Amino acid sequence: CGIVGIISSADVAPRLIDALKRLEYRGYDSAGVATLRDGHIERRRAEGKLGNLERRLEGDPLPGQIGIAHTRWATHGAPTENNAHPHTAGDVAVVHNGIIENFATLREELEAAGAQFQTETDTEVVAQLVSRYLADGMAPREAARAALARLEGAYALALLFAGDEEMIIGARHGPPLAVGHGNGEMFLGSDSIALAPFTDEITYLEDGDWTVVTRSGAEFYDGEGQPVTRSRKISRGAA
Ligand code: GLU
Repeated sequence: CGIVGIISSADVAPRLIDALKRLEYRGYDSAGVATLRDGHIERRRAEGKLGNLERRLEGDPLPGQIGIAHTRWATHGAPTENNAHPHTAGDVAVVHNGIIENFATLREELEAAGAQFQTETDTEVVAQLVSRYLADGMAPREAARAALARLEGAYALALLFAGDEEMIIGARHGPPLAVGHGNGEMFLGSDSIALAPFTDEITYLEDGDWTVVTRSGAEFYDGEGQPVTRSRKISRGAA
């Protein structure tokens, strides 16, 4: 339902939570955050209100200067902590808005190839698919691109890769996704409102686009994988 990502040189978890709060108006049943800590994916998730996730983080803080976060409005799988995003498989963590329509077919295929699913969500197929392509030897962006080509349905996605502190990948096929431009740090969000405290310079992905977001900027590609230019706008109503 709500997506945020930050790549920075300061710890990101507190600001990820702040951004999620600004997306609360959309409604949600659970929430979660994942960062890289010494290159490893770590996450905290909680059922119910963001306060539950905040308390979990107070008891068990999550360092890391790159991360993604999500508020979930369950469509497939009960609104439990285990089904809360981010979902992980191998070296990737994923947050997702929307519905992967062909998840059942993909799940069958991946399970037949040995994947062990941990949730009842449609979203986990994205993590498992990317993970399989990484295991096949593809680099993160190739694996992401190959996985995106297999997905049907509506999605905004953000992907975080273990061992890669230098980028977050975002993709849009239906639900909105925007890149926020900072100073030596960059942001991703399903909504410019979420990014308003950090920046008022926003680039919206067009339908079918995907983006590689680093600390210094973002590259944009269309559905065919061709590099494209997407203009930067000043978002009104920013803090
Ligand atoms: N379909 C996904 C799920 O149920 C994402 C729902 C959302 O947009 O929050 O987990």
